[in-house]
Amino acid sequence: MTKSGGCQCGKVRYEVTGEPMNQMFCYCTDCQQRTGGDKWFGVWYSHDNFKFTGAETKVFTRKGSSGADVHNHYCPDCGVTVCADITIGKFFTINGPSFDTDEHLSPKMAIFTASAPKWAVLPTGIPVFDTFPSS
Ligand SMILES: [Zn+2]
Ligand SMILES: [Zn+2]
Repeated sequence: MTKSGGCQCGKVRYEVTGEPMNQMFCYCTDCQQRTGGDKWFGVWYSHDNFKFTGAETKVFTRKGSSGADVHNHYCPDCGVTVCADITIGKFFTINGPSFDTDEHLSPKMAIFTASAPKWAVLPTGIPVFDTFPSS
């Protein structure tokens, strides 16, 4: 099953196939700065199940918590970060609200809550981890 999404202005577009590997709220500091909120809602799809279909993205590369490169892909026009390439895991964490449809979206856990701002309201009913769960 193919799903699609894109940035706010519609120039950057993507398609995914299959089911997400995982989907979660990330409360790390990088995600807060990127979103302007308390967390990023990331929907994980393997490299093999993801492709860009629209305009070329701009890329900002930072080091993830593992020390490996994380490539943030954002729209050169509207600036929305559509996804981040987690190179160490060979998957993309896709901006949840950027999908065209939301029936497949359901956060399964919250991670890096030790970095959450004091005003964050943490979710209930899903596992919450201070950092990244080891398993
Ligand atoms: Zn855009
Ligand atoms: Zn994060």
